[in-house]
Amino acid sequence: MTQALPGIDVTTNEPLGLYVHLPWCVRKCPYCDFNSHPLKGSLPAEPYVAALLHDLEQWSGSIERREISTVFLGGGTPSLFSADLVGGLLEGIANRVGLSATAEITLEANPGTVERDSFTAYRAAGVNRVSLGVQSFNDAALKRLGRIHGREDIDRSIRSLARAGLDNFNIDLMFGLPEQTVEAALEDIRLALRAAPAHLSHYQLTLEPNTAFAHDPPPLPADEACWEMQETAASELTAAGFHQYEVSAWARPGRQCAHNLNYWRYGDFIGIGAGAHGKLTDVTGDAVTRWSMPRQPRVYLDQSQPPAQRSVPPDERVFEYFLNRLRLREPITRVDFSRRTGLAWSVVEDRVNEARDRGLLAVSEDGFRTTDLGWRFLNDTQQVFLP
Ligand code: SF4
Repeated sequence: MTQALPGIDVTTNEPLGLYVHLPWCVRKCPYCDFNSHPLKGSLPAEPYVAALLHDLEQWSGSIERREISTVFLGGGTPSLFSADLVGGLLEGIANRVGLSATAEITLEANPGTVERDSFTAYRAAGVNRVSLGVQSFNDAALKRLGRIHGREDIDRSIRSLARAGLDNFNIDLMFGLPEQTVEAALEDIRLALRAAPAHLSHYQLTLEPNTAFAHDPPPLPADEACWEMQETAASELTAAGFHQYEVSAWARPGRQCAHNLNYWRYGDFIGIGAGAHGKLTDVTGDAVTRWSMPRQPRVYLDQSQPPAQRSVPPDERVFEYFLNRLRLREPITRVDFSRRTGLAWSVVEDRVNEARDRGLLAVSEDGFRTTDLGWRFLNDTQQVFLP
């Protein structure tokens, strides 16, 4: 039997995210294992928006008086949806659930799909943050990654963001690209900084199962070179005033992504759209439910299949909490653990002490933080909390 979340009012006080999955792309990139589908024929935009809003209605009863504090339009390639459609979708959301007047509303955009003044139109539609999928500034590298955009498209998108006055934007960059040198990776960081983003996500390319790259692997740089790319990027970003608040996320002060922070803090979120996931804490604070929607857009669109739903048992809640929470550099407190999971700290105390003895955690009266060793070997640190 779990205890109720002590002192937390999940009905109103805690951040609540809304993730909206828009699953189509112009074509599939060979490294991509997201739920994204090459667009064949025309975009079924109107029926999809109607399905999303219908989907949202199913969850509106479960959130009672809670307001949505962040909306993330992810994909796929959400910028395939016009600003009018995005505006209609946001209006439909606000008509169905409480949407905070100060909500962070992020649109993921592919530089290859951005027309001249589209960001001005997206901003007028309600978008106030953009995540631009740049990946690299190098045309040869982009070609190798199967991206539909080149350097010119990136520059045009950045100019369009500036014209729209959207200074709260993220640049997604990857490193460890096929045959990439440390110098080329550093050049990408420098060019990204020149665009003056508020946030930068820096991911290493990995070969995920069931992708074209996994079947026919390209020659990737050695581990030592990738380590050096990460270290040189860290120095460059720190010198430019960014701080690393999560494994792959760097931000200027006050410009962290509130939507993603909520995931990593084990907060609640609703997920709508093909293959979207959601997590909600029961209003009694005594149960955590997760769900996922059917992955295939066609199946999602005909709404014949209900979401796969399950309650998260306490030992899994412990692992889920630490798996997410340890990605952040901020310390973990006993109070936060109990508020988020509904469990007493004594449930994990032995494991925390074991990790401390291995030098992975530095324990204090309030909780702990990861040591440099624990941060460097994050997988080992997370595994301490496996069920
Ligand atoms: S554009 Fe993004 S979501 Fe679409 S296939 Fe490429 S990596 Fe995947």
